[in-house]
Amino acid sequence: MILHPFEYHAPETLEEAVDLAEKYGEDSKFLAGGQSLIPLMKLGLFSSGHVIDLGRVRGLDHIRKEDGVLAIGGLAKMADIEGSRLVEQACPALTDCAVSIADPLVRNMGPIGGNVCHADPANDVPAVAVASGAEMVLVGRQGERRMKAQQFFLDTFTTAAGRGEVLKEIRFDAERCRGSAYIKLQLQATDFAIVGAAARLWVHDGTVGECGIGLTGVGPTVLHPKKAEGAVQGSRLGTDAFSRAAELAAAEARPVSDLRGTAEYKQEMAKVVTRRALENALKRAGGGRR
Ligand SMILES: Cc1cc2nc3c(=O)[nH]c(=O)nc-3n(C[C@H](O)[C@H](O)[C@H](O)COP(=O)(O)OP(=O)(O)OC[C@H]3O[C@@H](n4cnc5c(N)ncnc54)[C@H](O)[C@@H]3O)c2cc1C
Repeated sequence: MILHPFEYHAPETLEEAVDLAEKYGEDSKFLAGGQSLIPLMKLGLFSSGHVIDLGRVRGLDHIRKEDGVLAIGGLAKMADIEGSRLVEQACPALTDCAVSIADPLVRNMGPIGGNVCHADPANDVPAVAVASGAEMVLVGRQGERRMKAQQFFLDTFTTAAGRGEVLKEIRFDAERCRGSAYIKLQLQATDFAIVGAAARLWVHDGTVGECGIGLTGVGPTVLHPKKAEGAVQGSRLGTDAFSRAAELAAAEARPVSDLRGTAEYKQEMAKVVTRRALENALKRAGGGRR
C-alpha cells in the first residue's frame, strides 16, 4: 500500500496542465478526484513519475446553459451536478445518474471528468453521455477538439483522449436531452451498478424523432446498442417499439458473471432497465403514458 515515489504538480491553469503533460509525456498522469487513480497506485497496479493534479485548475467546474447547450466543466463535482436545477431541466438522466453514484463523500470528491475519463465499464456517467449524444471537448498541445461520446469510449479504462489531453467540458443539447432517464439496478444504495440503462427520446408530432440508449455493466466498456435505438427511432407512440428495443439491447449486451450476478441474470436485467429507462424518458419528453 506504499506508493511509488512521484513528483506532484498542481497547475492553476489549463495551459500549465497541458504544458506539464507535454513536458513529462508517458511518465505523467492527470489526477482529478483521485478515487480510482490513487487506489490503483497504492495497489501497485499503476505508477507514474509525475502526477498532475487538475484540482486547482481554474474555470473548469462550471455548469451552465448557453445557446441551448448544457455545458458542464470537466471538474464539476457530481455532488454539484446532482443538486443543479439546470441539469435536472436540461438532462434529467444525468441527475438520476448523479444521485445514484456511491455516497455523498464520493460525489463531493469526484468530478464528472474523472468518471468518464476513467472509462470503467461499471461507471454510470458514460451511459448517459452515450445515450445523450453528448459532445466531449478535449484540450491538448494541438489545441481543442470535439468528439461525440459514442466515439470517446473505446475499451475498458480506455478512451479516445490522447496523451496529455484534458477533458475540458461535456456538452448536452438541452432540447434533445429533456426527455431522458437513467435506471440503475444495484444491490445496495451505494453500490456500483449490476446493470444500468440510460435512454433519451426526442418526440415530435407523436413520433420518436431521435432515440439514444447507453448501457452500463454489460460489456468491456459502455454499450451503445444501435439496433435497439433503431427499433424506437421513427416509431409512433403507442406501438410496442420499447419492448422490441429492450429485447435488442439485451441481445447486444455482453455481460460477464461476477460477484454482482451471473451473465444470464444481467442480460435479462438489461432488458428490464432498458424498457424502464425508455418509459421514464418518454414521460419526460412529453409523450405521457403509453
Ligand atoms: C467507494 C466508491 C464507490 C464508487 N461508486 C461509483 C458508482 O456507483 N458509480 C460510478 O459511476 N462511479 C463510482 N465510483 C467512481 C467515482 O465516482 C469516480 O468517478 C472515479 O473514481 C474516477 O473519478 P476521479 O475524479 O476520482 O478520477 P481519478 O481517480 O483522479 O482519475 C481517473 C482517471 O481519469 C483521468 N482523468 C480524470 N480527470 C480527467 C480530465 N479532466 N481529463 C483527462 N483525464 C482525466 C486520470 O488521469 C485517470 O486516468 C466510486 C468510487 C468509489 C471510491
